[in-house]
Amino acid sequence: MHEYAEIIVDLISNAVDRPFHYKIPPALRGKVMPGMKVAIPLGPRRCEGYILRLLSSTSVDHAALRDIYAVSDPEPLLTAEQLTLLHWLAHRCYCRKIDALNAIVPATFRQGHRSQKPYLFAATAEAEAQIVKLTKAPAQQKVLQILLDQGPQDRKALDKKGITSATLRALETKGLIEKRNKSRYPTGEPAAEVSTDPLQLGSEQAVCFERIGAALDSNRAQRLLLHGITASGKTEVYMQSISKCLKSGKSALVMVPEIALTPQMISHFEGRFPGHIAVLHSRLTPAEKSREWQAIREGEARVVLGARSAVFAPLANLGLIVIDEEHETTYKQEEAPRYHARDVAWWRARYNKAVLVLGSATPSLESYTQAVEDKGQLLTMTGRITPTQLPPVTIVDMRQELKENHRQIFSRLLLTELDGVLERGEQALLFINRRGFAGFVLCRECGYVVRCSSCDVSLTLHLDRQLMCCHYCGFEAPVPQTCPECSGIKIRYFSAGTQRVEDEIKKLHPGVTLIRMDSDTTTSRQAHSHYYRRFREGKASILIGTQMIAKGFDFPSVTLVGVVAADTTLNLPDFRAPERTFQLLTQVAGRTARGKLGGKVIIQTYHPGHYAIQAAAKHDYCVFYNQEIENRRQLAYPPFSDLLRFLFSDSDEQKVFEAATWLTGQLQQVISSAEILGPAPASLYRIKDQYRVQTIIKGQQLNAINPAVKKVIRTYHEHKPPYSVRLAVDFNPLVVL
Ligand code: ADP
Ligand code: ZN
Repeated sequence: MHEYAEIIVDLISNAVDRPFHYKIPPALRGKVMPGMKVAIPLGPRRCEGYILRLLSSTSVDHAALRDIYAVSDPEPLLTAEQLTLLHWLAHRCYCRKIDALNAIVPATFRQGHRSQKPYLFAATAEAEAQIVKLTKAPAQQKVLQILLDQGPQDRKALDKKGITSATLRALETKGLIEKRNKSRYPTGEPAAEVSTDPLQLGSEQAVCFERIGAALDSNRAQRLLLHGITASGKTEVYMQSISKCLKSGKSALVMVPEIALTPQMISHFEGRFPGHIAVLHSRLTPAEKSREWQAIREGEARVVLGARSAVFAPLANLGLIVIDEEHETTYKQEEAPRYHARDVAWWRARYNKAVLVLGSATPSLESYTQAVEDKGQLLTMTGRITPTQLPPVTIVDMRQELKENHRQIFSRLLLTELDGVLERGEQALLFINRRGFAGFVLCRECGYVVRCSSCDVSLTLHLDRQLMCCHYCGFEAPVPQTCPECSGIKIRYFSAGTQRVEDEIKKLHPGVTLIRMDSDTTTSRQAHSHYYRRFREGKASILIGTQMIAKGFDFPSVTLVGVVAADTTLNLPDFRAPERTFQLLTQVAGRTARGKLGGKVIIQTYHPGHYAIQAAAKHDYCVFYNQEIENRRQLAYPPFSDLLRFLFSDSDEQKVFEAATWLTGQLQQVISSAEILGPAPASLYRIKDQYRVQTIIKGQQLNAINPAVKKVIRTYHEHKPPYSVRLAVDFNPLVVL
């Protein structure tokens, strides 16, 4: 009999981030189980905790052991899989166990916030024949007529029509109406724009589907990378794989970037798998979210479609996990636990002996390298489903524009093409990367950007100190007055934003209708699909936007895509800048030539010869990959190493440096197998009055140093006096700004 339990306390605090042992009082023995929420004493207070495991003995002094007070919820909150995952997640992400638990089970569900299932009233099969006999009960007759004419209705709708519960109860007793579970999806969304029947697969699709099918049949954990160009029909391959998975009695998880989870996409999946789908994304209300989770846990929903956090969906008997657009940075969580959904998905695939399919037109360097090295993991689709060609891409050299005395943000070619589009009544999309705020210094005459010689990232401008700084290693240099490359004098801070593009367009074409989409204009819950629909319906000629318009949008009448400044991404002070640039340009280019009208792409840049831009213009992933992987190898960046980033932030500049220096010193004492860079100011040195300083450990298999690092972090928190400076530890950060 288990008399003790190991418990984590439900308090977000470093002080209680360790398992506590409690006695199980006789009355609760046999009733408590791992994963359950219980009430416990902690010092003078009463709080809640979760049972990690039951123990038959403990080394803790008996006098110090206290009793569990009570069981808070008779059903275990965490499944066996989730309990195991919790330990792994806390270890991998250097976070508190309670942070891991918060990620795995959403708070709304944990607080016992279990909403009632919504239902609809519907007329039964007998209703039609019986309605005429209800002349003596006009109220009942009225209800039946409504249900027969307008289909099932919820309680609220009937309320509005003045119908009472008594009437409904009477009809229910007579067997003329019944309650039906309401579909859990928001109503009023547009119907699917595409047919939901399985399609006859093309030959490339068929090969990929067969390979995934074989992997499903193997009942082994397998990871496959589906590299298919835009519009090669990856979604159909996923759907048919899901069908196969469901037929074998297993469940499936489909992950898409938040932004791609449009009503169109949701209804497409619902149409194919009616009654099986649960949807999880950040725009759900707590009640909606809780309902979805309940449906998943109870096995009612066997296919989950969701964004990053859906990777924790409590599906039992998981057979297939799909991560679409696997290269997207939104799969990495920036708050504790700083996990990557791909890593969690692979953990779950191994636990469940399931198949993980990663899909992308521009796979991450990590995934592609792994797929190539592990033979048989790479599936490729090189052709578009529709007979349309990929659009021709023209690169415009902005240095040349300047030389010929043309100083606007739009090149002459882009202006001419834009005129043509407006004259013909077609649509254009203008793209500008929002992340242009991290200032870099560029020579407008030759395109030269000042970079750090040891880290190969662009130096970040710190206007207040008139210095350029490498935020990886801390190297500093004064801002040059003339270009070190061409001695030109037009060397300056580079910036361009969506607002500026909008203003310029309005000046050039005063009457034109345009929509601007960026994080400023799409803050409300519905804004995104509202703008999408308006543009699709042709209510505007030009759509100006950030990366949020690069994905998943399908507009047949867009015949021109203009990338206003490819350089904003290319010169981000991040070693992944070329990869981001290539991905973005490829995605953006995929937004045109989707209809009969065809389409063109124009990329404006000061680096026309850069391999990321050249490869994107030719739609050639392999050319890009071969060059980029060589660069990574030479500088020992991922996938040839792991990075571990320590980010310190505080409003007191001096304190931040002091804390960072202290911790870095501790790391230097215990770590010899990896390089320690910094402390250096982060490239976004000050955000909301918080100074940010970072130290980066770079080395192979950094997992091995995990225990040593954890110990240093613990001493940091216990330091006397403890540093008040906030410390965020991030294993393999995707964005290092
Ligand atoms: P991807 O996800 O690879 O970019 P999509 O899944 O969006 O490509 O597919 C592009 C278009 O081709 C979609 O409109 C889809 O309905 C259609 N499609 C996919 N497979 C087939 C098929 N086998 N037969 C006909 N149309 C298909
Ligand atoms: Zn450097």
